[in-house]
Amino acid sequence: MTYDLIIIGGGPAGSAAAVYASRKRLSTLFITSEWGGQSVVSEQIFNWIGTNSLSGNELAQNFKKHVVANSGAGQTLEVKEGEKVTAVEPLGSEFKVKTESGGEFLAKTILICTGSGRRKLEAKNADALEHKGLTYCASCDGPLFEGMDVAVIGGGNAGFETAAQLLAYCKSVTLLHRSENFRADEITIEKVLKNPKMKAIKNVEIWEIKGDKFVEGVIYKDKATGAETELKVSGIFVEIGQVPNTGFVKDIAPLDEYGRIKINPLNQKTEIPGIWAAGDCTNVLYHQNNIAAGDAVRALEDIYLAIHTK
Ligand SMILES: Cc1cc2nc3c(=O)[nH]c(=O)nc-3n(C[C@H](O)[C@H](O)[C@H](O)COP(=O)(O)OP(=O)(O)OC[C@H]3O[C@@H](n4cnc5c(N)ncnc54)[C@H](O)[C@@H]3O)c2cc1C
Repeated sequence: MTYDLIIIGGGPAGSAAAVYASRKRLSTLFITSEWGGQSVVSEQIFNWIGTNSLSGNELAQNFKKHVVANSGAGQTLEVKEGEKVTAVEPLGSEFKVKTESGGEFLAKTILICTGSGRRKLEAKNADALEHKGLTYCASCDGPLFEGMDVAVIGGGNAGFETAAQLLAYCKSVTLLHRSENFRADEITIEKVLKNPKMKAIKNVEIWEIKGDKFVEGVIYKDKATGAETELKVSGIFVEIGQVPNTGFVKDIAPLDEYGRIKINPLNQKTEIPGIWAAGDCTNVLYHQNNIAAGDAVRALEDIYLAIHTK
């Protein structure tokens, strides 16, 4: 069987597209490795429109419920969860999508909504001490550091949100940032820096993570003076940005210098006819849940027209 459309990814972009695809009665296969996307780790999300506040887990459950309610008997949408797409191959006027578990599926069109994942800290000993005090998830591991001194690496929204969470139970939080200006929203910066347990150090390079079995500290270098300082901490929370999940299409869809899929923002088309992309895996400005969902809906409208006017 050849589907009209295969949607890849179950964050806000892919989930929004799946609901629209079902309501437009496109025969659609939706494949995702997990539900909810990146903000699933957030304790509270305050700007998902229509909801005052909800946790990342609730957001993920809502996406799943909404998509699943539009699939199954009598519907045109089929859902495969827990499956990772490893390749998309052009096959004449169709595409073959391959998954890690050996699945192969055909479709006339593809919508890529695979978002992005964490950028890893490149400092001496960082890999060796991952999960031994160095972590990429404050919501998952933060409470383990109750009453301790910790550091957050990264001065964007994710870094400041992480610091805010940790301030609730850690003894002190020191945020280390690589440049002179923070990238987070002013209101968040102000609120977090007001806390007396909070300290922020700008313009530093993270040089080495200290510790034998567990993290004992971090050595950073002042970029202006070159001076090295060791900060004693028991936990390090890394929030230094995202890397797009686009490796599986790098040979067929043109990417920008950051590895994001190049799209036409008028209609979300990639440079390959038959493939659209939306959300954080694309080269648009600004990455937010509402933007990802909206972009995916735009893509879906365009895919529907392409299928019905071909
Ligand atoms: C810590 C944090 C907090 C944030 N807080 C907010 C906030 O409060 N408000 C806000 O608006 N935005 C927030 N954001 C940004 C927001 O989460 C993203 O902009 C949004 O998730 C992007 O959605 P997406 O659907 O494009 O991609 P993602 O959310 O990254 O979803 C991608 C999906 O694709 C799946 N996937 C990836 N690769 C494959 C593959 N090969 N095969 C199958 N499936 C795959 C993943 O499992 C995931 O389900 C936050 C981001 C972070 C990191």
